Amino acid sequence: MTAPAPTTTIFETMSRLAQETGAINLGQGFPDMPEPPELLAAAAEALLQRSNQYPPMRGLPALRQALVGWYARHQGLPLSEEEVLVTSGATEALAAAILALVQPRDEVILVQPLYDAYLPLVRRAGGLVKLVHCRPPEWRLDPQDIADAISPRTRLLVLNTPNNPTGTCLDRSTLEAIGALCQQHDITLLCDEVWEATLVDGSEHLSALHIPSLRDRTVKVGSAGKIFSLTGWKVGWAIAAPALAQKIAAQHQFLTFTTATPLQHGVAQGLNLPEDWFVTHRQRYAQAKARLVRGLQQAGYVVLPNSGTWFVSVDLAASGLPVDDAQLAQDLVREAGVAAVPVSAFYADTPETGYLRLCFAKGDEVLDEAVARLARYRVNQRRA
Ligand code: PMP
Repeated sequence: MTAPAPTTTIFETMSRLAQETGAINLGQGFPDMPEPPELLAAAAEALLQRSNQYPPMRGLPALRQALVGWYARHQGLPLSEEEVLVTSGATEALAAAILALVQPRDEVILVQPLYDAYLPLVRRAGGLVKLVHCRPPEWRLDPQDIADAISPRTRLLVLNTPNNPTGTCLDRSTLEAIGALCQQHDITLLCDEVWEATLVDGSEHLSALHIPSLRDRTVKVGSAGKIFSLTGWKVGWAIAAPALAQKIAAQHQFLTFTTATPLQHGVAQGLNLPEDWFVTHRQRYAQAKARLVRGLQQAGYVVLPNSGTWFVSVDLAASGLPVDDAQLAQDLVREAGVAAVPVSAFYADTPETGYLRLCFAKGDEVLDEAVARLARYRVNQRRA
């Protein structure tokens, strides 16, 4: 594959267009919902009363302990503090892991559709990318496709579960099959699990760290931005067996070194909130998702089922619309006044072009107005 220079992301582009045209922004994945007051108060208190100086390089002990406790309570995942490294958002955890694990000309397997940061980071590390595809409408990952992509030079596999943009999750048998492959070929797994706390269909998140063959060869990445709907805080983490964590910390040390101290305090207190806080938080998102899906369906749009993230995907062909998602996203923002993200933007080659991603993490009025606009657009489009 050729290596184009990184350009402005589709999220930036659509958000800018939304701003210019006054469109409702269901493109970029940020919540427009009440922010959790408990965390705001904890961070404010930390900023005014505690410390604004460098925290330890691997993160505040209080936050690392809180993460160990949270994963034990919420996912039954036994971790030690030694395995936890706090970073400036999940993005920095991904960058540090890729820089630590990829040497020039190492091969790295990425799965499409893929979150936009992976490819430029792997290339920046000098890695050679091999692409594997998940196919719509289920977006199932076939472990045989991973097996076919492996060569003696493969060092790293990057997975994302729950997946952005599709909102689908990898099941146990898929992860086990992948674990066997990683073990057989001595491959490290970088598993981006930032959407782990967003499952609103009653299912439970399955971390790659739960799979015995992957336990010591996985770097799991998480983000407080997603767990608490505070995307601007940029507090994330990498979790891995001590030797792996050590390698990633060595990169983090010269990328950002540390992450804002008061926000780390805020996140630590947030993670220690009682279980029912998380249930209520999730319910708000479940309601928003149900509202958008119902509205879209009533307007004749076909929405693909999914489990997590703050997104749903519309199947354009099934909705009776043209299947050029990039063009449709442009038309929608200008003619309907709604910004969405084309799923084809999550591909480096041979994109699927028949799906649009919409963010439902918005207030009722915003969702209702967006649905009304999309309903009008579809009627006009089908009349034309
Ligand atoms: N990975 C995925 C799959 C994401 O969707 C995002 C944010 N949209 C990130 C990583 C980045 O997370 P953070 O803001 O914590 O850097």
